[in-house]
This record gives sequence, structure tokens and C-alpha cells, in this order.
Amino acid sequence: MRLEDQEASDNVEDRRGIGVGGIGGGLGVGGIAVAVIAYFLGFDPMTALNIGQQVSQMQADTREVREAPRGAPKDEAGQFAAKVLGSTERVWGQIFANSNAQYRRPTLVLFDGQVRSACGMAGAAMGPFYCPGDEKLYLDLSFFRDLQTRFRAPGDFAQAYVIAHEVGHHVQKLTGRRRPGSNQESVRLELQADCYAGVWGHHAGELNQLSPGDAEEALAAATAIGDDRLQQQAQGRVVPESFTHGSSAQRVRWFKRGLESGRPKDCDTFSAASL
Ligand SMILES: [Zn+2]
Repeated sequence: MRLEDQEASDNVEDRRGIGVGGIGGGLGVGGIAVAVIAYFLGFDPMTALNIGQQVSQMQADTREVREAPRGAPKDEAGQFAAKVLGSTERVWGQIFANSNAQYRRPTLVLFDGQVRSACGMAGAAMGPFYCPGDEKLYLDLSFFRDLQTRFRAPGDFAQAYVIAHEVGHHVQKLTGRRRPGSNQESVRLELQADCYAGVWGHHAGELNQLSPGDAEEALAAATAIGDDRLQQQAQGRVVPESFTHGSSAQRVRWFKRGLESGRPKDCDTFSAASL
């Protein structure tokens, strides 16, 4: 990608290295010290542990509020994510404006390990996600390393596609797309987000932000994280009924459709007869 001229978005919350806030996270260092002291003062061990846990919880809570910096991070990976987000804001801002609507910008939360969202606790293992409840995109940058090594889908545009896909879910929220009630619906929702990622890619191209080979990178990523491919890797067989994101071929098809047309109305997976 060519993002030199793209301004980084300020709608970034950098929770890397901050911790999650206690729940299920065991005792922090302060908590352990308090638990040990309480124990030696003669409290029974469970009470001592409870006191320690409460202290950890309090510390974690204040830490989260005080220390999660907002604004574009300075490090390379954080800058990149913030610039991609900035590009999606520009593109979707324009698309919404064209239909006399206002685009409400989502917040990107960078985290490592675990994170607490309005949708509950989440770990890095589940991959990037969008939470409609707080309109935030949650991204553990280690997923980008996974893309490169585990899924063999290298390249910066592959990473941008992942962010653009989550932004696609945000667009769905803004346009009133309801939450899925079944795997079938979930697949349609996911493929539409892929198509929206393609729509963004189309306009990023018009902004001269793409380099040769970028589309291929995103297609490789879409292929690599199709449900069939992931299932094959995880359990050695494919169970189509349990797909929630769509097969590799379907993900590629819908991403391509958005990329070629650049129009969100071409992303209507819900009335498509075949996916
Ligand atoms: Zn998704």
C-alpha cells in the first residue's frame, strides 16, 4: 500500500501492554502483595485472596481508564493500522455523504492478549472482531503475524483487508443490518463485510493508495481465512453447515465484487440467490 499521504486516524485506543482489568485475570502484583500481607495479619487464606483480588480489580480498573492512550500510535504497526482506519473513514465518509447521511466513525482498539469489550471478554485467539455495542473494532496486532506465518497471507494490504472487513461490520450496524440468527445469516453478513472491504479497496485505489499486487494479497488473505480452509487446518475436514464466514471461494468472490464495483448496493448478499 502507499499510505504516505494518508493521515492517521485519531480514533484509536491503544490498550497494548495495559492489561484487561482483573476479571479472570488472576491477581496483579499489587493484589498478591496485599493478599500475602492480609494472610500474615491472620485473615483466612480465602478472605486474603478475596481482598487481594479486589485490590487487583481496583488497580486494573483505574489503570484502564487512566493509561489507555487515545490517538494514533507512534510505532510502525500502530501507525499503519491508524492510517488504514483513516482511509476507511475518508472513503465511507464520502459514500455516506453521497446519500445525505453522516458516517459515524468507529474506534479501533489495539490490544494484546485479552481485552474487555461491551461484547464481553475476548482473547487474541478469536481473531479481530467488531462489537456493535460500543462501536469499536478490536484488533490484536499479533493476528497480522499469524496471517503471515500460520495463514501464509503476507503483505500490508492483507492486513488492511482485515481492518476494512471489521469496518464493514460497522457499516452494517450504521445501516441497520440486524444481527444473525443462524449460521446461514451469519455467512451472508460476513460475505457482505468482505464485499464492503472490497468497496473500500476500490476507492483506496482511486486515492492512489494501492500498489501493484495489493488486490492479490487481499484475495490470498480471503482465501486463507475462509471457513473451509480454517476447518481443514483445525480438524482435517470440512463441515459446510457450521460455516459462519463462508468458504474461501465465496469470500474471494464477494471481496472481488466490491473491489470491482465500489458500490455498497452491489454487496446485497441477503437477496443474492446464490452466494
Ligand atoms: Zn466478520
